[in-house]
Amino acid sequence: MTELKPCPFCGGNARMLRHELGIMGRSGYDWWHAIQCQRCNAAVGYDDNRYRDKSDAIRAWNTRAPSPELTAANERIKVLEEGIHKALLECGTHFDQAKKKPLQESLAKSKEME
Ligand SMILES: [Zn+2]
Repeated sequence: MTELKPCPFCGGNARMLRHELGIMGRSGYDWWHAIQCQRCNAAVGYDDNRYRDKSDAIRAWNTRAPSPELTAANERIKVLEEGIHKALLECGTHFDQAKKKPLQESLAKSKEME
């Protein structure tokens, strides 16, 4: 099973919980998985979603917004890729194929990393 990441708010350890609502066998009964930080009680699977599948709860808990630094770096990379791509197109026939190849490989590699 995938490991639970530390809490995004306080860094505390998280644990999987099973919630039950109502009385089994009666109408309105429900159960689901939730994940809660043991330090600050931040959680997924309370009011937001009722996860039947543990892996869905884990995926929700482990989802993180990208950091502003990472977003900025990705934007810079995109600008550089566009520049390289333009340069390759404009150089076309004037640019030696052997010199062009490493640039094309770098561009392809950076696309794979997205
Ligand atoms: Zn926490």
